[in-house]
Amino acid sequence: MKQRPTFPARLDTTLAMNRPNAVGKPAPTTHATPTKLPNAPATAAAPSRIKAAQQPTPQPGHGMDSSAVRHRMVHKLAAQGISDAQVLGAMGAIERHRFVDSALVNQAYEDTSLPIGLGQTISKPGVVSRMLELLLQAQLGNPAKLGRVLEIGTGCGYQAAVLSLLATEVYSIERLRGLHDKARDNLRPLRLANLHLLFGDGMVGYAKGAPYAGIIAAAGGEAVPQAWVDQLAVGGRLVAPVVTAGAPGSQALLVLDKTAQGVRQTILEAVHFVPLKSGVA
Ligand code: SAH
Repeated sequence: MKQRPTFPARLDTTLAMNRPNAVGKPAPTTHATPTKLPNAPATAAAPSRIKAAQQPTPQPGHGMDSSAVRHRMVHKLAAQGISDAQVLGAMGAIERHRFVDSALVNQAYEDTSLPIGLGQTISKPGVVSRMLELLLQAQLGNPAKLGRVLEIGTGCGYQAAVLSLLATEVYSIERLRGLHDKARDNLRPLRLANLHLLFGDGMVGYAKGAPYAGIIAAAGGEAVPQAWVDQLAVGGRLVAPVVTAGAPGSQALLVLDKTAQGVRQTILEAVHFVPLKSGVA
């Protein structure tokens, strides 16, 4: 009889260990409400050891070997032009199926956005990897890993998890309490000690973690809030969808680099993100 392997019960330890230790910053306490995730083992490992868990334990209910499907997804991302090995490694390591409802698990590795509740969506892997690659490109000439990053729009926590493998510290803000809680539940088993979940309005950024080497938004507004630019470090990069002048509601990716001389903005391809909203709910 055909065995039906399924997803590993937890993240491979080589992955969980493949991050620098926390920098010892005190946990943020005001404005947005931080959620403490449990600490991961504090042992360093070489970057080349990023890999997905490869020994699924048999468990009834899922007819999919997630590591093989995820590798296919990574190959497709590479074929679409994503070339950053760190980004591809992180996309191959984080199990996207853990972040979607069980009814959608079979679509988890397709290049499609999927509903995560409260009218929001998990972003397409193609767009997540594209934005992360753009964020990392700002580090050219500086081979060290990305420093502190602010993410606006935690959603189900998927992109935050990928980001946590690429940056030293990640602060991720969500304005909907239900999704903030869902992300915390989704992320708990991954034990990503450098990922800090915050409940609050990301339009005002998160000044306590500033300055950021990178800021990434998963929701698109009419303009980039000034607070984000203010909280970006000189030499840092912001990647966000913004509403463009074209068809109503049309959006494009904006890359904003902050230099000692000022900001440089570049508009890239069209994208479709949920709207950036103010306040919490
Ligand atoms: N990166 C997420 C994508 C979530 S969709 C993932 O991997 O699942 C974008 C999210 O942005 C939504 O959950 C929405 O509630 C949130 N959002 C919109 N405006 C926001 C704001 N001002 N502050 C924080 N989150 C916001």
